[in-house]
Amino acid sequence: MTYDLVVRNGTVIDGSGGPRRRADVAVLGGKIAAIGEIDGAGREEIDAEGHIVAPGFVDAHTHMDAQLFWDDLGTYSCYHGVTSAVMGNCGFTLAPARPNERALVVRNLERAEDIAAEAMAQGIDWTWSTYAEYLDAVEKQSKGINYAGCIGHSALRTWAMGERAFTETANAQDMAVMAEELRGALAAGAVGFTTSRSHSHTTSDDRPVASRLASWEEVVELVGIMGRESQGAFEIAAEAHHGDPEGLADYERRLQELAVSTGVPIMYGVIGGKSTKLIDDTVAKGGRMHGLTHCRGVSSLYSFHTNIVYDVLPEWREVRSKPLEEQRRLLSDPQVRARLVHAGKYGDYGNRLGPEASKPNYDRLHVMQSTYKPNPTLRQMADERGIDPVELVIDLALESNFEVFFQQFYNTESDEGMVATLRNPNTAMTFSDAGAHVKSIIDGSIQTHLLAYWVREKQLLTLEEAIPMITRQPAELWRLHDRGLLREGLAADITIFDPQRVAPRMPYVTSDLPGGASRFVQKADGYKATIVNGQVFMRDGEATAARPGQLLRARHGDRKGRADAGALATAH
Ligand SMILES: [Zn+2]
Repeated sequence: MTYDLVVRNGTVIDGSGGPRRRADVAVLGGKIAAIGEIDGAGREEIDAEGHIVAPGFVDAHTHMDAQLFWDDLGTYSCYHGVTSAVMGNCGFTLAPARPNERALVVRNLERAEDIAAEAMAQGIDWTWSTYAEYLDAVEKQSKGINYAGCIGHSALRTWAMGERAFTETANAQDMAVMAEELRGALAAGAVGFTTSRSHSHTTSDDRPVASRLASWEEVVELVGIMGRESQGAFEIAAEAHHGDPEGLADYERRLQELAVSTGVPIMYGVIGGKSTKLIDDTVAKGGRMHGLTHCRGVSSLYSFHTNIVYDVLPEWREVRSKPLEEQRRLLSDPQVRARLVHAGKYGDYGNRLGPEASKPNYDRLHVMQSTYKPNPTLRQMADERGIDPVELVIDLALESNFEVFFQQFYNTESDEGMVATLRNPNTAMTFSDAGAHVKSIIDGSIQTHLLAYWVREKQLLTLEEAIPMITRQPAELWRLHDRGLLREGLAADITIFDPQRVAPRMPYVTSDLPGGASRFVQKADGYKATIVNGQVFMRDGEATAARPGQLLRARHGDRKGRADAGALATAH
């Protein structure tokens, strides 16, 4: 027997949660042909001695919808063992959109997910109107990793209502148009439907994104259609009811009722120490509900090459608008420094949203020295030096030749709390937002952080526990039934890494977006190879010439077909 590829001598952890074992993995025709002792040769062989052989990682919460048109690798998720990404989360998609209404979907996406409108205008050949046509465009695109897509509520609303989507509730006619397009998207293989009711999702002109104008009844109706007619899942960027426990209880009651009455799996971010109680209760009542978790704590990354926390202040903007050499001179000038320190301490940071720069919290603002171990806060370092934190930012900029990175965390979370959330069987470690916020967050590396920090450094999770969190569990959320496990007959998506070395590298800034805008990229050490649909796509941390990624289309069947677990077709 000759195989296309044999991975030899590795330690297989198959994503099921079962124990590791020494085994070879043989691949034929894009599928896993055998796992065990393989006698036959492979046309290509990889020696995985000393390495873990795991299912390719699945990222269930991304916004790669736009990026995949100008980046055929799927950076920088591809550097972190990811072989499949689910896009279209939080209600934001590039389809449906009529040619003369593209500005409306861009308006929804641009600020809420911080994807440059210019990059979308220059980097995308808009060939579609409907979501089904969008999936066809994704299918045609050359790509390194697999993508599955859900249809977003904001685009769906603007499709049905045009400008009124940003100001009105939907009438019966609007609902009929939305229902028809939703059905078309599901029939074409969308894996689900998503929405946002989050106050942080705002357009560039400070209005709510379109999905936030929807009544709850509108959401119930659309999710109901999906539940009756497909096996799709529903993702929601949750309503926030800060300081309003009754409003929160009402929202949670509505969400639970929706899960139990429709049977549709519902998922949302469980980050920043958020409790899983609603999920546990809903599951106990027979609904399906899942938490999308994080393992580092969501943070914004600041650098002098992109943005720093003070850039919203006029005194700082004046200095920061100059070339770096000029900034160096100004930051060294005692008078300028005094003015900047005063502004940093007492300036008006305004009303900023989500990961946008806001008034710094120096107890949670860290100087990035290690890429995965705890780093000192600005408060700690400033106290040690006996200076103000604003002065410290200036000093570190000069000392590092502007190469310093600052990481602002939004919450603190105990190790015990984090690990308990990760271990909850109804969560998946996947809240990367990859493809979005490319100039403010670097969470496309959280899969690597899980392995480097929680498994190796802290030893609070075993690899057998951690790997399902980034493979089988996220694949199950969106019913990617042939992904997330190493099993004979399933797609040959495989990630091979060295458990002693795997770690994120320092991020860097590059200006490779269409139109020249900059973004962060973070690579990793310790990944020997990533195999997508049986082909070696990444080797020793860099892409090969292969682009084996596919569009993963859901094949829903109707309600009767639900029992046979709904196969997921891979399009060639
Ligand atoms: Zn998102």
